[in-house]
Amino acid sequence: MVESAWESAQIQLAHAAQELRLDDGTHELLRMPRRSITVSVPLTRTDGRVEVLTGYRVQHNLTRGPAKGGTRFHPATDLDEVRALAMWMTWKCALVDIPFGGAKGGVAVDPHALTRTELERLTRRYVSEILPVIGPEKDIPAPDVGTDEQIMAWMMDTYSVQSGYTVRGVVTGKPVSIGGSRGRGGATSRGVQYTTLCALRDLEMDPHDMRVAVQGFGKVGGLAAQYLHDAGCTVVAVSDSKGGAYSARGLDPVALLRHRRSGAPSVAGYPGTDAITNEELLELDVDVLVPAALHGVITEENAGRVRARVIVEAANGPVTPSADAVLADRGATVVPDVLANAGGVAVSYFEWVQDLAAYWWSEDEVNERLRVLMERAYAEVASLAAARGLSLRRAAQVIGVGRVAEAHRTRGLYP
Ligand code: NAD
Repeated sequence: MVESAWESAQIQLAHAAQELRLDDGTHELLRMPRRSITVSVPLTRTDGRVEVLTGYRVQHNLTRGPAKGGTRFHPATDLDEVRALAMWMTWKCALVDIPFGGAKGGVAVDPHALTRTELERLTRRYVSEILPVIGPEKDIPAPDVGTDEQIMAWMMDTYSVQSGYTVRGVVTGKPVSIGGSRGRGGATSRGVQYTTLCALRDLEMDPHDMRVAVQGFGKVGGLAAQYLHDAGCTVVAVSDSKGGAYSARGLDPVALLRHRRSGAPSVAGYPGTDAITNEELLELDVDVLVPAALHGVITEENAGRVRARVIVEAANGPVTPSADAVLADRGATVVPDVLANAGGVAVSYFEWVQDLAAYWWSEDEVNERLRVLMERAYAEVASLAAARGLSLRRAAQVIGVGRVAEAHRTRGLYP
């Protein structure tokens, strides 16, 4: 059985609802998104053809504050995926206790098949279509798979031009020159590093003895590999959508990042490494596995062949619920997505705060606040897991879902 992202999110919520003994009405309220919009996004290609693409913005929950979540440009993006990602954002923001609800957006498109001008046109038209539902007090998009800080700059500019004045706080993950936060670029990956080190400490595993594999050498996976390397781990394998690179002696993530930034299409084929497939990477004899690409890559079918003792979900939803059960039976520890990759939204929150205050913090200040926030969130999850005999995922969901349910109870239901 391979659960879709939406099915996985529903199963995880049902487990948390049971643990929290939520009444059926509250469970039902949390199951469904508050708002989902599907938009047609016409794009004039450089050769004059018009293509109509499909875009989405889903606001899962707004009870604890404005909705917050990334924007994905990927050919497989659909409403179910976006709904699941929006729900995970709700629990994540509540877990790290920042005053946001959860949202996600995206367009079903391969951004690598577009020219820069086409990408800008697509971004601006998509923002125009979702404009009525976004804004610094309503819903604040950020980067995700296939989008970057340039795309955030176009989103912020489009919203600002339509508003008649500069609105910095409408998106996060912007370039620093237009109100982005120092430290946002590496924030998700730093959070992955901090939570990995916390988990290793609890398991009494020395980072210097760790062999690590990272699937997805993108914005998150690339820097996660570098930061884990900096912490003393040996990164033996990395991959992207075109394949992977393996070296038993260890890779140099900084050199690989330079290689990618110099325009190389993939990490596969990097000199001095052996080629491996993405499937082989997941099953390598490593201590720590960091899936940092897409959801649903570790399933009931391949979970039995995953040999890592610790799996850190840098991506959203990479381990399905039935794979979770297989990994738990084997005694593996899964550091769940809503905890492991929360560093990105945490620094997005810092960016929003800085934008609203028009007062900017140093990179050291951002990184230090992030470290404190992530270590506190990890400690809360680990202590609940230990007290109640839960997995880290179940404990993280119980805390996140519990805080949102509590906010609903406190605010009451408007007739
Ligand atoms: P990205 O587009 O920068 O990188 C994605 C990477 O995954 C690329 O290297 C791509 O080649 C690779 N990839 C794509 N399809 C693949 C496949 N089928 N097999 C193997 N590799 C594949 O995206 P990102 O921002 O680094 O996001 C990666 C994951 O982290 C996503 O699940 C995203 O939701 C999650 N995440 C991102 C952020 C953020 O701040 N960007 C925050 C939290 C969570």
